[in-house]
Amino acid sequence: MKFIEFDSRAVKKIRRADLQDVLKVWEGLGYYARARNLHRAAGIILYHHHGIMPDGWEDFRKLPGVGDYIAAAVLSIAFNKPYSVVDGNVKRVLARLLLMEKPVNKSTSIKFFKEAAGRLLSPQDPATFNQAMMELGATVCKPQQPLCSACPLQRMCLAHETGRVGEYPKKLKRAPTPQFKIAVGVVFKNGKVLITRRKPKGLLGGLWEFPGGKVRDTEKAKGACIREIKEETNLSVGVDSQLGRIKHAYTHFKIIMDVFCCSYISGKVKLNGPVDHRWIKLDKLDDYPFPKANHKFFPALKQYAAKVVESDKKNPDKPKYLIPET
Ligand code: SF4
Repeated sequence: MKFIEFDSRAVKKIRRADLQDVLKVWEGLGYYARARNLHRAAGIILYHHHGIMPDGWEDFRKLPGVGDYIAAAVLSIAFNKPYSVVDGNVKRVLARLLLMEKPVNKSTSIKFFKEAAGRLLSPQDPATFNQAMMELGATVCKPQQPLCSACPLQRMCLAHETGRVGEYPKKLKRAPTPQFKIAVGVVFKNGKVLITRRKPKGLLGGLWEFPGGKVRDTEKAKGACIREIKEETNLSVGVDSQLGRIKHAYTHFKIIMDVFCCSYISGKVKLNGPVDHRWIKLDKLDDYPFPKANHKFFPALKQYAAKVVESDKKNPDKPKYLIPET
């Protein structure tokens, strides 16, 4: 087996790149903390490890964003170190193979699956073993209708031997995914729109967005939009129209987002929550990294702006979008 060659030029390129450019390339993939951690890890590899990827558990595990799973996967597959990898596919294979009763979706179960995987691990070739286990789970020992007749482990599989494949893996019932109502406003002023930047850490950290937030139980989306913009940016705005309603699912929750087109009324931007803001022309939207949920209404926003521009040309006395800059 040929192990992965490490190219330190890639690390230098990532480190020298502006974080915003890294987020822009990552845009739409979700899990934005991974992009931020990649950027930070590149710096640590460059300055603390002389540009050489550390291949010991302690040093590698300390890199930002590296947990037990990533450390075991990279160190075994790239460096052939004897660490067993346990992902969802591997847990399913182990549960069926050994009739493991621990629920696969309970966090405290992981140590039992790691122990089981560790006992089976081939110390001579952990890289191939781990990849084979993950691949077997993904392509043969599938969640529904596993292909037991084609499985190389069939003769040692306890679930198959006892005719109980359908009973494994065991799972805890999950609570329903919470859903939040969000109101967002695109504030137009002097031919530009206001965008704000989220804090560097946390959900969607470092990305740009339109101001807004959660709709309270006691209010309507339109009112929440005006209130949130005031609280976040100190601007008073009026809602002109609703642009659309977007549904989006994150890993642990879902949102229903009402998007409004707003006109600036008064105030100077003072941020409360976001860390930066810009007034930009709509044709510059693509220069900034935005969450995927925002991209879902960009086409409607561009259509809306085009209509307003046409209307402004017909009614130059009452322009909404093409107001000359002051
Ligand atoms: Fe999974 Fe069937 Fe193979 Fe057992 S025999 S590991 S249940 S595919």
